[in-house]
Amino acid sequence: MNKRFFLKVCSSLIGSHFLAPLLTWAIAEKLKNWAGNLEYSTENLYSAQTLEQVQEFLKKQSSLKVLGTRHCFNRIADSNRQFISLKNMDQVVALDTAARTVTVEGGLTYGHLSPYLDRKGWALHNLASLPHISIAGACTTATHGSGEKNGNLATAVAALEIVNAAGGVVQLSRQKDGQEFLGAVVGLGALGAITKLTLDIQPTFQMQQYVYEGLPLSELKNNFDAIESAAYSVSLFTDWQNQRINEVWLKCRTDQKPAFEAQPEFFGAKKATRNVHPIIELSAENCTEQMGVPGPWYERLPHFRMGFTPSAGKELQSEYFVPRQNAVEAISAIERLHEHVSPHLLITEIRAIAADELWMSPCYKQPCVTIHFTWKQDWPAVSKLLPVIEQQLTPFRPRPHWGKLFSIPPAQLHSEYERLTDFVALAKRFDPHGKFRNDFLNANIFGAAS
Ligand SMILES: Cc1cc2nc3c(=O)[nH]c(=O)nc-3n(C[C@H](O)[C@H](O)[C@H](O)COP(=O)(O)OP(=O)(O)OC[C@H]3O[C@@H](n4cnc5c(N)ncnc54)[C@H](O)[C@@H]3O)c2cc1C
Repeated sequence: MNKRFFLKVCSSLIGSHFLAPLLTWAIAEKLKNWAGNLEYSTENLYSAQTLEQVQEFLKKQSSLKVLGTRHCFNRIADSNRQFISLKNMDQVVALDTAARTVTVEGGLTYGHLSPYLDRKGWALHNLASLPHISIAGACTTATHGSGEKNGNLATAVAALEIVNAAGGVVQLSRQKDGQEFLGAVVGLGALGAITKLTLDIQPTFQMQQYVYEGLPLSELKNNFDAIESAAYSVSLFTDWQNQRINEVWLKCRTDQKPAFEAQPEFFGAKKATRNVHPIIELSAENCTEQMGVPGPWYERLPHFRMGFTPSAGKELQSEYFVPRQNAVEAISAIERLHEHVSPHLLITEIRAIAADELWMSPCYKQPCVTIHFTWKQDWPAVSKLLPVIEQQLTPFRPRPHWGKLFSIPPAQLHSEYERLTDFVALAKRFDPHGKFRNDFLNANIFGAAS
């Protein structure tokens, strides 16, 4: 049996109830994250099918992590003892059209929820660049899309069901639980297993996506607010070469008022004449439809289509949030490093995100702009560059994406999160003995607060 066939057989058995509930990862390959840049420290993976199984399993373990769709680039999800996967708990539990919410199980992905919602006449407010990720993993790490009026994906969470370290089921809602809820939503995987999420929904909508090529950096600096407010969601892609933004992706709602008039030029950039990939050399086959073709929200908000490999695949990612008011200065600061950055870069993406009230969100009480780097998979080079970039961004008090690579020291992180001490106290209530902690959390969160 060749390796590909063996892996296929194993994954179909894993997907079936045949081998469940207890699984040891019997595959010859090591368990890795999506990008393959890190091997997890254990291959012990238990796949739960029911809430009761989650409760029983959590009660018995002394140390474990919940594994989502493995799309983080750093060790936030890692465990050296045990994983639990909720991949098989992937059902829509309830669609409450009166309350305008949908409740889903903790293993569901956006890619599976979105077409269901659309068929029923509903939509989410935003999506990340890819639909392949688990809703629970995305929300607990404050994953975001773009759009200056759109909060990150976790801002859509209206209620959570979490199994805590003792195996108890805790229900939290925005309506009833005030501050505790706001602390728990971006929980960084530190509170327990999220077994259900209730998300805000709105009536479904159609979108059109336009791409413009070659926006002069000077135009961006002079017109940043006008460019960011031109569409529901705006993404700027650059390789930091030639003082220009390579591509501007404008995602417009067809019900947007005033409607976006797609002129041949947009602040000096030219309207693309074909679908493009953010990395121009790559085929646009895996990208969502562009050229102003109207389509449902979930086929326009992400850049990448479900069923295809998102982004480049063999890559590393880093991303920094800076206050929106410092956007132009922060972009200029990185541009000054272009000779160091460009050789190691596949592409940078710049996005805007609205402020929120979630304690551990990088957008806590501040609207942000994010500067993202998709790197070539060369960790020795990238690890030397990150401190240089972070140093350059220091005046703007950068906050790193929780799921991507960074080197900001824990003490500095601590000073950027005014609710960190409250968050640590909350985590201790859910998990008094640190069952859900790992080296990443101990270093960046719990070490920082003690
Ligand atoms: C190609 C690519 C594109 C990306 N694009 C974006 C983007 O546009 N915007 C953005 O912000 N980010 C983006 N990311 C980052 C990604 O969204 C985050 O890393 C997110 O956390 C992925 O979710 P996951 O389920 O794969 O997480 P995992 O890596 O599996 O886990 C992340 C954390 O979530 C916890 N967790 C997962 N499920 C549960 C659960 N049920 N209960 C409790 N804890 C849980 C884990 O324990 C861990 O702490 C991208 C990543 C890739 C690889």
